Amino acid sequence: MQLIDTLSALRQARPKWPGSVGFVPTMGALHEGHASLVRASVAENETTIVSIFVNPTQFGPNEDFGKYPRTLERDMELVKSLGANVVFAPASDAIYPKHTRIHFQIEQLDDVLCGASRPGHMNGVLQIVSILFNLVQPDKAYFGLKDYQQQLIIRRLVEELHFPLQIVPCPIVRESDGLAMSSRNRYLSPEERRQALALSHTLTELKALRGTWKSAQAARSHAIDMLSQQPGIVLDYMEVLDGRDLSPLTEISDSHHPIAFVAAFLGKTRLIDNMPLWEYPPVLPTSAS
Ligand code: AMP
Repeated sequence: MQLIDTLSALRQARPKWPGSVGFVPTMGALHEGHASLVRASVAENETTIVSIFVNPTQFGPNEDFGKYPRTLERDMELVKSLGANVVFAPASDAIYPKHTRIHFQIEQLDDVLCGASRPGHMNGVLQIVSILFNLVQPDKAYFGLKDYQQQLIIRRLVEELHFPLQIVPCPIVRESDGLAMSSRNRYLSPEERRQALALSHTLTELKALRGTWKSAQAARSHAIDMLSQQPGIVLDYMEVLDGRDLSPLTEISDSHHPIAFVAAFLGKTRLIDNMPLWEYPPVLPTSAS
């Protein structure tokens, strides 16, 4: 496996890669969730490239950019063991040599959920993903449904700007007790780790009761009640939205692709999770209209 850390080396190497190129963009501190994306790419492509880049433009001023875990050597071992061919780990000032002046806004999709509670975050995601797509020129790119809103806006980006590649959404990988895997889980104290289970438990209960909700608002209120009784959890948002375009829902029915979304702080650590409330996955919703 090759480590590439400059743009010029990537440009030189790219034309030599055989066959279809699968791309897995990450911020490193890799876990089994990332590994599932790499496995999917290795299975479907002749060449797999994994990027490891903690993207400064998607962090707010008071967020954890400085302390985000950086474990390049361990990550490279994992990626190699999974059969990927290239790790691309550029320096920050190579990607952003100048102050960025191009900003993205995606009507309706970026003003809810994490877009609303992390101003500038979705813009940063779209900046880095566009840059990486241009540099890597993949045929397929793999994104986890853990970051549901992110993969939805990226699919919209690719569709509207005609990037010549296919986005492959991949299922959420969870710990055996249900907690969604995240690089940020390592920040949790043992007590916070136990308390964090309330997120996936609440979503699972909403799903189990999905035939009984009279309205999306009733489901949301039930979840908020459940979470407010949990020690250690400070809720950021809890929403039940249409999975196709993140629009508000009145009723919950399979045809609306209802998805429950949660974000909460455990101490200083912000975690997100989501769960479709319909029988999943019959089909992934096609891109937002
Ligand atoms: P990150 O390193 O957090 O930026 O994530 C890189 C990619 O891995 C994104 O497409 C995430 O959605 C995906 N990912 C992170 N955690 C998980 C998980 N638990 N299950 C599936 N995909 C994940």
